[in-house]
Amino acid sequence: MSNPLVAYVSGIPSRPTVKVRTGPSTNYDPPMFEIAVGTPNLLVLEVRPDEQGTNIQGRTYQWLRLQYPNGQIGWTRDDLLTISGDGTSFGYGIVTTPTVAGNIIRSFVPNVPSTPIAPVGVVPTAPVAPAAPTVPTAPTQPSTPTQPVIPVTVTPVTPPAPASPAVVVVPVVIPVTTTSPAAPTAPAAPVPQPSAPAPVAPVPAAPTNQPTAIIKTMGSAPTRTGPSTTFARTGALLNRNGRYPILEVQRENAGQQYRWFRVSNAGQSVWIREDLVTYDGDTTTFGLPTDLYPVPMKDDYWWVRGYNMPPNMDQGLVQHDGWDLGASADIPIYCGPNGGTVVKTNVCAKCTPDKPNAASNGYQIGDPAIVSDPAWGYGYGTYVIVWYTSDQLPQSTRSLLAARGFGDQAAMGVMYAHLAQKTVNDGQVLTPGQQIGLCGNTGNSEARHLHLESRASKSSQFIGWANIRSGVMDDVALFKR
Ligand SMILES: [Zn+2]
Repeated sequence: MSNPLVAYVSGIPSRPTVKVRTGPSTNYDPPMFEIAVGTPNLLVLEVRPDEQGTNIQGRTYQWLRLQYPNGQIGWTRDDLLTISGDGTSFGYGIVTTPTVAGNIIRSFVPNVPSTPIAPVGVVPTAPVAPAAPTVPTAPTQPSTPTQPVIPVTVTPVTPPAPASPAVVVVPVVIPVTTTSPAAPTAPAAPVPQPSAPAPVAPVPAAPTNQPTAIIKTMGSAPTRTGPSTTFARTGALLNRNGRYPILEVQRENAGQQYRWFRVSNAGQSVWIREDLVTYDGDTTTFGLPTDLYPVPMKDDYWWVRGYNMPPNMDQGLVQHDGWDLGASADIPIYCGPNGGTVVKTNVCAKCTPDKPNAASNGYQIGDPAIVSDPAWGYGYGTYVIVWYTSDQLPQSTRSLLAARGFGDQAAMGVMYAHLAQKTVNDGQVLTPGQQIGLCGNTGNSEARHLHLESRASKSSQFIGWANIRSGVMDDVALFKR
């Protein structure tokens, strides 16, 4: 159903062509040929990180192996190309809006360093086929164009503590630079910080208790004509932080990945997947609990990705044992509204202000050097784990945990990871809504975000984070999105 990923040669200002090389770095010199800026529809065959590790502000350049109109196949760097289509198998997700490839951080890097560079040269076969031969068919895809997600299997390992490494990559938009393509190693000009979401006019509070969906994507959110990705896109985009009356919520049912909201948008009725929205007002008639904890950051956050684990896993999405919430600054993170107890904290020993994470140290996301190293917090960087006893949990959470066999005294531990800073200590008893740290970008991460992970426990006493691994569940059990 999806279109194959194709590239358009966007180049840089004042240069009419870009270089095509025989391998994924400028070391492959001289170039094979140059391709005119404006050349469209180049089929993407493969994507690799720069072999020399050349990077800009910690983001390693990626090179795209493309099929060119002259019948040749070669490599071009990602800051010179605009891509669109189904980039799932390359870690780009579904790119619905043509986007400079260098502005999208891939959510995984398949088989990185060891396989040989595929031969380049004249393709013996005929013209560019419309279908991508190397792209495995992906299952039905989610609808978030700005949040590339791809199938990745993260095998949970069992480090001595505190837990298995999580997938923590975050797609992020980085401003395009004007670095010359011929001299990628030249000192980069000052580059603006990763862009924050476009400012949105303050949204007035809901005038009534009307059930309202609030869009929490980083950019605008796409919608569908029905409650799944099998329905066509409507073309209508909902604004980040925009408020839309809820008309209907598809009830949760077994085997379903997500519920969908039907909302009213300028007189039109459109559907949006539940993970892209939060809600307020009296939503109880829609089966949405109103007593859940608020998201631990105030309004200035956006949705990156959600919980996606077996047995109900969406193979089209990254396996992930919590939620990732992006933020444009190191904003405060708060504990739940009924207080809690800090049971474990970690300050990342190897994170420095300049190089706080995997990406800025030249590691690929998920590199064992990060996720197996206690000095990196096993990839979680600086983190805080808060323990919430039964009496501190929302009634709806307690009911849910009881229904799932955790008993009526079940507790929950919540990890708040990749913090820039923690502001509490082990053993500290928290007042309701107390600040526990600042959102950051430490550990196995490449963009500022909060990794939020909830684990239920039959025991009201904390018995160790790794020991309650089996209680991991979608944060939706405790948090309102
Ligand atoms: Zn995460």
